[in-house]
Amino acid sequence: MMTVPDLSGRIALVTGASRGIGYQLAKQMAAAGAHVIAVARTVGGLEELDDEITSAGGQATLVPLDLTDMAGIDRLGGAIFERWGKLDIMVANAGILGVISPIGHIEAKTFEKVMTINVTATWRLIRSMEPLLRTSDAGRAILLSSGVAHSARAFWSAYAASKSAVETMARCWAEETKNTPLRVNSVNPGATRTAMRAQAMPGEDPDTLPNAFEVAAKIVPLASPALTETGKLFEVQEGRFKDYVLPA
Ligand code: NDP
Repeated sequence: MMTVPDLSGRIALVTGASRGIGYQLAKQMAAAGAHVIAVARTVGGLEELDDEITSAGGQATLVPLDLTDMAGIDRLGGAIFERWGKLDIMVANAGILGVISPIGHIEAKTFEKVMTINVTATWRLIRSMEPLLRTSDAGRAILLSSGVAHSARAFWSAYAASKSAVETMARCWAEETKNTPLRVNSVNPGATRTAMRAQAMPGEDPDTLPNAFEVAAKIVPLASPALTETGKLFEVQEGRFKDYVLPA
């Protein structure tokens, strides 16, 4: 499970690739041989990624896109179809925290933004990319969730609810596609030293946390054509898949 898979010739879309976990996932998938399609708003971060990938002999295509632009997501699907005719790997990693606040104090525009980016854009990405992933001989979808989807932590309601929604979409999609080569899994990276974690936990010493490089290295194997699991949650820091407990 933990060995670096051979991703030669595979086309991998990674959202939120301008920094943090997504940046490392894009870089490591490119190093494993994939052509990475890197999506985010911050052009500087994407360009830094491109420099790192190309200087290591890899290939990337940069897509500066705000994921609140739903028509833009659809256009991206069309562009991938035109250029490659398929997609092998989709990593829905981009996300925002919103605010840590009592549920009744969250501003409407903050709540709506968390849902738009974390949930609606992820659904839109699924809708646009599914036909391309189904064209692949071994399509792999990896959706970034969080431990708070299960722990119902005080003050994290918007983000936690958004990640519960992501996991549930992933499980429904996995059920719909279980008899196809497509494999769909959620991932809880666990606390990771990134800008988002610093926003959530400003008092925490970041040096106590694993960094995005280490965390991404454990997620990359989920893109392997050899992967068999679908509809599961991968707990990165435990290094194992977890089954959901289904009602009898
Ligand atoms: P960061 O805040 O470091 O990075 C988030 C990424 O998402 C950035 O590349 C950002 O790019 C992108 N993004 C945010 N909004 C948009 C948007 N509107 N359009 C396009 N891209 C967008 O987060 P992490 O690396 O920490 O998190 C990655 C994933 O892991 C998230 O889904 C997060 O919820 C999850 N996670 C993280 C944990 C942690 O401890 N770090 C723990 C549990 C889960 P840009 O701003 O350039 O657009």
